[in-house]
Amino acid sequence: TSFSDFGLADSLTRALVDAGYETPTPIQTQAIPDLLKGRDLLGIAQTGTGKTAAFALPILQRLSAGRPAQPRRVRALILSPTRELATQIAESFKTYSRYMNHMSIAVVFGGVGHRPQEDRLKRGVDILVATPGRLMDHMAAGMVSLESTEIFVLDEADQMLDMGFVQPVRRIVKHLPKARHSLFFSATMPKEIGQLAGELLFNPVTVSV
Ligand code: AMP
Repeated sequence: TSFSDFGLADSLTRALVDAGYETPTPIQTQAIPDLLKGRDLLGIAQTGTGKTAAFALPILQRLSAGRPAQPRRVRALILSPTRELATQIAESFKTYSRYMNHMSIAVVFGGVGHRPQEDRLKRGVDILVATPGRLMDHMAAGMVSLESTEIFVLDEADQMLDMGFVQPVRRIVKHLPKARHSLFFSATMPKEIGQLAGELLFNPVTVSV
Protein backbone atom coordinates (compact mmCIF):
# COMPACT_ATOMS: atom_id res chain seq x y z
CA THR A 1 0.00 0.00 0.00
CA SER A 2 1.14 3.55 -0.68
CA PHE A 3 -0.36 6.85 0.42
CA SER A 4 -1.66 7.47 -3.11
CA ASP A 5 -3.95 4.41 -2.75
CA PHE A 6 -6.03 6.21 -0.11
CA GLY A 7 -7.40 8.86 -2.46
CA LEU A 8 -6.37 11.70 -0.17
CA ALA A 9 -6.56 15.33 -1.26
CA ASP A 10 -3.51 16.60 -3.16
CA SER A 11 -2.86 19.11 -0.38
CA LEU A 12 -2.44 16.22 2.07
CA THR A 13 -0.23 14.05 -0.15
CA ARG A 14 2.02 17.06 -0.82
CA ALA A 15 2.43 17.62 2.91
CA LEU A 16 3.31 13.94 3.37
CA VAL A 17 6.00 14.19 0.72
CA ASP A 18 7.41 17.23 2.55
CA ALA A 19 7.35 15.28 5.83
CA GLY A 20 9.31 12.48 4.17
CA TYR A 21 6.60 9.85 4.62
CA GLU A 22 6.94 7.31 1.82
CA THR A 23 5.07 4.24 3.01
CA PRO A 24 2.10 4.04 5.37
CA THR A 25 2.72 2.26 8.67
CA PRO A 26 0.60 -0.84 9.48
CA ILE A 27 -1.96 1.08 11.53
CA GLN A 28 -2.25 3.65 8.75
CA THR A 29 -2.78 0.94 6.12
CA GLN A 30 -5.36 -0.82 8.26
CA ALA A 31 -7.24 2.19 9.64
CA ILE A 32 -7.28 4.93 7.00
CA PRO A 33 -9.60 3.29 4.41
CA ASP A 34 -12.28 2.51 7.01
CA LEU A 35 -11.92 5.94 8.62
CA LEU A 36 -12.38 7.61 5.24
CA LYS A 37 -15.66 5.68 4.95
CA GLY A 38 -16.74 7.05 8.32
CA ARG A 39 -16.47 3.82 10.31
CA ASP A 40 -15.83 4.06 14.06
CA LEU A 41 -12.45 2.66 15.09
CA LEU A 42 -10.98 0.87 18.07
CA GLY A 43 -7.22 1.12 17.62
CA ILE A 44 -4.97 -0.90 19.87
CA ALA A 45 -1.64 0.79 19.27
CA GLN A 46 1.16 2.50 21.11
CA THR A 47 2.81 5.82 20.45
CA GLY A 48 5.44 5.42 17.74
CA THR A 49 3.24 3.34 15.44
CA GLY A 50 2.11 6.31 13.37
CA LYS A 51 -1.35 6.39 14.93
CA THR A 52 -1.51 10.19 14.90
CA ALA A 53 -1.40 10.32 11.10
CA ALA A 54 -3.80 7.35 10.99
CA PHE A 55 -6.49 9.56 12.52
CA ALA A 56 -5.31 13.04 11.49
CA LEU A 57 -5.27 12.38 7.73
CA PRO A 58 -8.88 11.10 7.51
CA ILE A 59 -10.04 13.94 9.78
CA LEU A 60 -8.38 16.57 7.59
CA GLN A 61 -9.70 14.91 4.45
CA ARG A 62 -13.24 15.02 5.80
CA LEU A 63 -13.05 18.59 7.11
CA SER A 64 -11.54 19.87 3.87
CA ALA A 65 -14.55 18.62 1.93
CA GLY A 66 -17.29 21.18 2.47
CA ARG A 67 -16.37 23.28 5.42
CA PRO A 68 -19.07 25.65 6.67
CA ALA A 69 -18.40 29.34 6.18
CA GLN A 70 -18.67 30.67 9.72
CA PRO A 71 -18.65 30.89 12.63
CA ARG A 72 -15.87 28.45 13.31
CA ARG A 73 -17.06 25.69 15.60
CA VAL A 74 -15.12 22.73 16.94
CA ARG A 75 -15.68 20.17 14.19
CA ALA A 76 -13.12 17.65 15.45
CA LEU A 77 -12.16 17.09 19.10
CA ILE A 78 -9.11 15.07 20.12
CA LEU A 79 -8.73 14.28 23.82
CA SER A 80 -5.24 13.46 25.00
CA PRO A 81 -4.06 12.73 28.55
CA THR A 82 -1.01 15.02 28.72
CA ARG A 83 0.17 18.41 27.60
CA GLU A 84 3.12 16.86 25.72
CA LEU A 85 0.99 14.44 23.72
CA ALA A 86 -1.67 17.06 23.02
CA THR A 87 0.98 19.47 21.75
CA GLN A 88 2.51 16.79 19.51
CA ILE A 89 -0.87 15.90 18.04
CA ALA A 90 -1.63 19.56 17.28
CA GLU A 91 1.80 19.92 15.64
CA SER A 92 1.10 16.86 13.49
CA PHE A 93 -2.23 18.32 12.35
CA LYS A 94 -0.45 21.55 11.45
CA THR A 95 2.22 19.66 9.49
CA TYR A 96 -0.32 17.64 7.49
CA SER A 97 -2.65 20.61 6.86
CA ARG A 98 0.01 23.10 5.75
CA TYR A 99 -1.34 23.22 2.18
CA MET A 100 -4.99 23.39 3.23
CA ASN A 101 -6.68 26.75 3.33
CA HIS A 102 -7.99 28.00 6.64
CA MET A 103 -7.75 24.89 8.79
CA SER A 104 -7.71 26.26 12.31
CA ILE A 105 -6.04 24.00 14.89
CA ALA A 106 -5.73 24.80 18.59
CA VAL A 107 -4.51 23.01 21.69
CA VAL A 108 -5.57 23.55 25.31
CA PHE A 109 -4.09 21.94 28.43
CA GLY A 110 -3.78 22.59 32.13
CA GLY A 111 -0.94 24.04 34.14
CA VAL A 112 -0.82 27.35 32.29
CA GLY A 113 -2.99 30.47 32.30
CA HIS A 114 -6.55 30.31 30.95
CA ARG A 115 -6.52 33.68 29.26
CA PRO A 116 -4.28 33.03 26.20
CA GLN A 117 -6.23 29.84 25.49
CA GLU A 118 -9.53 31.73 25.82
CA ASP A 119 -8.32 34.36 23.37
CA ARG A 120 -7.34 31.61 20.96
CA LEU A 121 -10.71 29.86 21.30
CA LYS A 122 -12.54 33.14 20.65
CA ARG A 123 -10.83 33.40 17.27
CA GLY A 124 -12.48 30.14 16.23
CA VAL A 125 -11.23 26.60 15.95
CA ASP A 126 -11.95 23.76 13.52
CA ILE A 127 -9.82 21.13 15.24
CA LEU A 128 -9.32 21.22 19.00
CA VAL A 129 -6.78 19.06 20.83
CA ALA A 130 -7.34 19.12 24.58
CA THR A 131 -6.61 17.52 27.90
CA PRO A 132 -9.86 16.67 29.72
CA GLY A 133 -9.61 18.89 32.82
CA ARG A 134 -8.80 22.11 31.01
CA LEU A 135 -11.40 21.42 28.33
CA MET A 136 -14.03 21.11 31.06
CA ASP A 137 -12.89 24.46 32.50
CA HIS A 138 -13.31 26.14 29.10
CA MET A 139 -16.69 24.49 28.59
CA ALA A 140 -17.88 25.67 32.02
CA ALA A 141 -16.76 29.20 31.14
CA GLY A 142 -18.77 29.06 27.91
CA MET A 143 -15.64 29.27 25.77
CA VAL A 144 -16.19 26.04 23.85
CA SER A 145 -19.27 24.49 22.32
CA LEU A 146 -19.15 20.88 21.19
CA GLU A 147 -22.58 20.89 19.57
CA SER A 148 -21.13 20.94 16.05
CA THR A 149 -18.46 18.33 16.69
CA GLU A 150 -18.52 15.73 13.94
CA ILE A 151 -15.45 13.69 14.86
CA PHE A 152 -14.26 12.65 18.30
CA VAL A 153 -10.92 10.98 19.08
CA LEU A 154 -10.01 9.58 22.47
CA ASP A 155 -6.26 8.99 22.45
CA GLU A 156 -4.25 6.96 24.98
CA ALA A 157 -7.38 5.77 26.76
CA ASP A 158 -5.49 3.51 29.17
CA GLN A 159 -3.36 6.44 30.26
CA MET A 160 -6.57 8.45 30.77
CA LEU A 161 -7.69 5.72 33.16
CA ASP A 162 -4.39 5.80 35.07
CA MET A 163 -4.66 9.56 35.44
CA GLY A 164 -8.24 9.48 36.70
CA PHE A 165 -9.75 11.00 33.56
CA VAL A 166 -12.43 8.43 32.80
CA GLN A 167 -15.26 10.31 34.54
CA PRO A 168 -14.24 13.68 33.01
CA VAL A 169 -14.17 11.98 29.60
CA ARG A 170 -17.69 10.62 30.14
CA ARG A 171 -18.88 14.10 31.13
CA ILE A 172 -17.34 15.67 28.04
CA VAL A 173 -18.83 13.02 25.76
CA LYS A 174 -22.33 13.90 27.06
CA HIS A 175 -21.91 17.27 25.30
CA LEU A 176 -21.10 15.72 21.92
CA PRO A 177 -23.76 15.02 19.30
CA LYS A 178 -24.91 11.41 19.37
CA ALA A 179 -24.49 11.17 15.60
CA ARG A 180 -20.77 11.53 15.29
CA HIS A 181 -17.68 9.69 14.07
CA SER A 182 -15.75 8.25 17.03
CA LEU A 183 -12.20 6.91 17.28
CA PHE A 184 -10.69 5.29 20.34
CA PHE A 185 -7.01 4.45 20.84
CA SER A 186 -5.38 2.55 23.67
CA ALA A 187 -2.11 0.67 24.05
CA THR A 188 -3.75 -1.88 26.33
CA MET A 189 -7.33 -2.97 26.92
CA PRO A 190 -8.06 -3.34 30.63
CA LYS A 191 -11.70 -4.12 31.42
CA GLU A 192 -12.71 -0.55 32.23
CA ILE A 193 -11.27 0.66 28.96
CA GLY A 194 -13.08 -2.01 26.98
CA GLN A 195 -16.28 -0.89 28.68
CA LEU A 196 -15.65 2.77 27.89
CA ALA A 197 -14.95 1.88 24.26
CA GLY A 198 -18.26 0.01 24.14
CA GLU A 199 -20.06 3.14 25.37
CA LEU A 200 -18.40 5.51 22.92
CA LEU A 201 -18.16 3.53 19.69
CA PHE A 202 -20.84 2.34 17.29
CA ASN A 203 -20.08 -0.87 15.39
CA PRO A 204 -16.33 -0.17 15.30
CA VAL A 205 -13.60 -1.69 13.19
CA THR A 206 -10.86 -3.01 15.48
CA VAL A 207 -7.24 -2.59 14.45
CA SER A 208 -4.44 -3.98 16.58
CA VAL A 209 -0.79 -3.39 15.72
P1 AMP B 1 3.02 8.55 16.33
O1 AMP B 1 2.92 7.08 16.66
O2 AMP B 1 1.77 9.06 15.70
O3 AMP B 1 3.44 9.35 17.52
O4 AMP B 1 4.17 8.72 15.21
C1 AMP B 1 5.51 8.36 15.48
C2 AMP B 1 6.47 9.04 14.52
O5 AMP B 1 6.43 8.44 13.23
C3 AMP B 1 6.23 10.52 14.29
O6 AMP B 1 7.46 11.18 14.38
C4 AMP B 1 5.68 10.60 12.88
O7 AMP B 1 6.04 11.81 12.26
C5 AMP B 1 6.34 9.42 12.21
N1 AMP B 1 5.53 8.81 11.13
C6 AMP B 1 4.20 8.54 11.16
N2 AMP B 1 3.82 7.93 10.03
C7 AMP B 1 4.90 7.81 9.24
C8 AMP B 1 5.14 7.26 7.94
N3 AMP B 1 4.16 6.71 7.25
N4 AMP B 1 6.40 7.32 7.45
C9 AMP B 1 7.39 7.88 8.17
N5 AMP B 1 7.25 8.42 9.39
C10 AMP B 1 6.01 8.37 9.95
